[in-house]
Amino acid sequence: MAKQIQAIRGMNDCLPGDTQIWQKVEGILRETVASYGYQEIRFPIVESTDLFKRSIGEVTDIVEKEMYTFADRNGDSLTLRPEGTAVCVRAGNENGLLYNQEQRLWYMGPMFRHERPQKGRYRQFHQFGLEAFGVATADIDAEVILLTARLWKAFGISDYVRLELNSLGSNEARANYRDALVAFLEQHIDVLDEDAKRRMYSNPLRVLDTKNADIQAVLVDAPKLSEHLDEESREHFANLCERLDAAGIQYQVNEKLVRGLDYYNRTVFEWVTDSLGAQGTVCAGGRYDGLVEQLGGKATPAVGFAMGMERLVLLLQALECVGELRRDVDVYVAAMGDKASIAAPVIAEELRTSVAGLRVMVHAGGGNFKKQFKRADKSGALVALIFGEDELAQGVVTVKYLREEKEQVTLSINEVKTLLADLIA
Ligand code: ATP
Ligand code: MG
Repeated sequence: MAKQIQAIRGMNDCLPGDTQIWQKVEGILRETVASYGYQEIRFPIVESTDLFKRSIGEVTDIVEKEMYTFADRNGDSLTLRPEGTAVCVRAGNENGLLYNQEQRLWYMGPMFRHERPQKGRYRQFHQFGLEAFGVATADIDAEVILLTARLWKAFGISDYVRLELNSLGSNEARANYRDALVAFLEQHIDVLDEDAKRRMYSNPLRVLDTKNADIQAVLVDAPKLSEHLDEESREHFANLCERLDAAGIQYQVNEKLVRGLDYYNRTVFEWVTDSLGAQGTVCAGGRYDGLVEQLGGKATPAVGFAMGMERLVLLLQALECVGELRRDVDVYVAAMGDKASIAAPVIAEELRTSVAGLRVMVHAGGGNFKKQFKRADKSGALVALIFGEDELAQGVVTVKYLREEKEQVTLSINEVKTLLADLIA
């Protein structure tokens, strides 16, 4: 036998069974964001490398070590998108969606990062993301967060995720804070690891989100970002908190929350769970008022989030919150004899037309009834419809119940339609 070719490490197939769960999750996501008036946007998977360098920032995990970057045949440097926000802004600018207008957009699809694969962390993973452009006030920050809270409710996991919130302030406030933080870090240089030392001058805020326990211990006494916030950001944050309080959304202010991407300012937030081990952040986002301009558009305030869909699915499975899934097959059609096997698919077409939403699988490949019933059973169908020569001659069909102890019945096609409509109602 020829040697099999394997999938790329960290890039997974999603098989039947799992795809059902994904479809259900995607359906709930779509419906929920539609209930807030957000519109879908789709954009390419491959973009210019510069787009991510200029937006996410050169000194970030993503750009430093996680991007799938390659030279196109003409030598251009291209990158498989590691996230959606920068691409959404690029697409918005290029298509004139952002100039002097509001947009509430969402997207969903694969992202690529060359990380060490583990539970909840993959090299191809999927994000559901949402971006609201053109509103500078905290009402839209609150809406975006309320929307995520509604999602958790729809998925039945509200009790297992918590909201962490912070404000990064204006760029100027952050620059002031940066100086104070660097001065503090310089005093503790002996405790810093390689990563922290490297970032200390290029991106010192990122040191705050270190996983190194020794550094964390020292950081307890570090200067606080909240002490450096500008007045406007302070008011913006207070207004956001007031709105969340009014809506009954609980949150924890986490001063160490800075997010791993450079473009954020003011509001940043994460929804975190303790039910997934180390990969506990399910959804993360914030405000990025400078990004549109930074990528060549007219200054446009914006706020958004991205959710890791694998982590969401894992969480639903871990908490047994997947719920009921739609059966793949309601009815299996079995036919015996040449004439019946030609007539059966035609009748199946009629059933699909008459009974909206009905899922009919027609046996293919011949064989005796025993073999056909085995397939019928495996299909998960509730009933089998049997067409033999006798049924065909009399214009009737025999209904065999596959999941309950019930005598089989012989009915007219019209009676069968009524029965099937009731069955899936
Ligand atoms: P982490 O700290 O877990 O690396 P991040 O800050 O890099 O996350 P973001 O860039 O904010 O993540 O992406 C938003 C969300 O996408 C994350 O909260 C997570 O749910 C999901 N995500 C990010 N990277 C991966 C990955 N490699 N595999 C699966 N999901 C991911
Ligand atoms: Mg990461």
